[in-house]
Amino acid sequence: MPEINQQLSLRFAGDDRLSDKMKIGQFLYFIELNTPPLAQPYDSAIALTINQAKEFNKIPEVTAISITDRLLTEKCHDPVETATRISKVIDKPIIMALSGKGSSFERIKTHLATAKSNGINNILAVTGNVSDLHPYNAFSKLREYENGYFDSIDILHMARKIDKDFKLGAVVSPYQYTPEGQCLQYAKMMKKIACGAQFIVTQSGWDMKKAQELLWFLQRRQQSISVFARIPLIHLDEAKKLADGYQEGIYIPIPIATKIMQMARQDLDTFLDFQIDRIALQVIGYRTLGFSGIQFTGVRNPSILKKIMDKIHELEKIYPDYNSWLQEWNNNYNLTNFAPLVAPHYLFKNLLQKDICEYKEKTAIIAGTALPGPRVFDVLRNFVISLAFSKRMPHFVRNFVSYLYRYSPQKMAKLAPCLYLNHRICPKRLVHGPCGSTQPNGFCECEDRTCFFHRVLHLAAFKKDFSLLEKDDYDSTKSSN
Ligand code: SF4
Repeated sequence: MPEINQQLSLRFAGDDRLSDKMKIGQFLYFIELNTPPLAQPYDSAIALTINQAKEFNKIPEVTAISITDRLLTEKCHDPVETATRISKVIDKPIIMALSGKGSSFERIKTHLATAKSNGINNILAVTGNVSDLHPYNAFSKLREYENGYFDSIDILHMARKIDKDFKLGAVVSPYQYTPEGQCLQYAKMMKKIACGAQFIVTQSGWDMKKAQELLWFLQRRQQSISVFARIPLIHLDEAKKLADGYQEGIYIPIPIATKIMQMARQDLDTFLDFQIDRIALQVIGYRTLGFSGIQFTGVRNPSILKKIMDKIHELEKIYPDYNSWLQEWNNNYNLTNFAPLVAPHYLFKNLLQKDICEYKEKTAIIAGTALPGPRVFDVLRNFVISLAFSKRMPHFVRNFVSYLYRYSPQKMAKLAPCLYLNHRICPKRLVHGPCGSTQPNGFCECEDRTCFFHRVLHLAAFKKDFSLLEKDDYDSTKSSN
């Protein structure tokens, strides 16, 4: 079993059921249930979710129930209340997501404090995708959102401050096909680990080369952390709307979306069987590659989960190792282009090769990709502001430079993690690194242009210091909170 599964460094207290299972390298299954939207009366909606949770709780393979926060809409009921009520009727651990979407310092702090007193110990910190309440201007561009986005980095810091025994998780989006997108996502993941994340959940994806790339990256950096793959079950109504290859929060490659839509025209059983076969083969792949488990999303019916688990057990016997699974995966998907680009970027050249499952320095060949240089104005701006904010400079210089760039000195100091570049072009006004919703081609989730953080990366590359992107520099930003 690859080193990634050996959870040696976790030290948890309190409810250790989940972490104990992670420590022994058991392959785990989480079921994702949504906190009900405000549009539904809470009592009836939660009754339905509780019933689902009770049924999933009876399935032996299910290790934990994962409760989402503001996943499809910001107008959601309280995730802590939802997690607490479900935790009372099941005997398995709960993982509660906490989303920064439309969240204030007070919301996150209150939810964390209540979660702690209600015995909810496993927290998954997410920044969140663009809010349905985020306002647009007259030109259909997103305006500044007053409620803002509380970065997952800030959530992790606050959680650690409130209770050192919280078991903290974070999200990564490995399905990025530009060198910038891949590098930025991994840098932010490293920052999350530095901030205390003890397990990682990936965004949903189909490209198993990207799954192996993520593990090889972590193994290369000697990070022994549990990584869980999020796998979606697409519903018939959703499948019929996949024409553009993109579903809310889940990137679906065009060939896969086409196949799903074709199958959706058949009867429901054929459509379901097709999905169950695909999911089970992917689960076997994640397992053989060294992932610690799976988080299923979109599985609402326990009987479907039982069918998925039966299929997984069947395939485990047929494909007991990496090479046998790889052959079957290639039989099905070798000709499928998972990337939205003509020349997709992969960090390593020899991914998904026969006999090469684990990362080894001698065999993993890094694909060196040159990055474009930074903009001249970005270099100048970074030089001037970094100098003004260096410790040896008197305060009046700092104040003067901040005035020149139309920021208060406190707000300017908060821009240190994005190398003092103007983050106003990021619709979420993030500074610690990109959100997990960046499109696979490097474009912003919300607008038709590249993610703001590509410029930050180009500047860091120019300064020959990528550690600037991974550094936990929370202290420079917390003053405004
Ligand atoms: S600019 Fe980047 S970080 Fe900001 S919202 Fe767009 S994709 Fe996310």
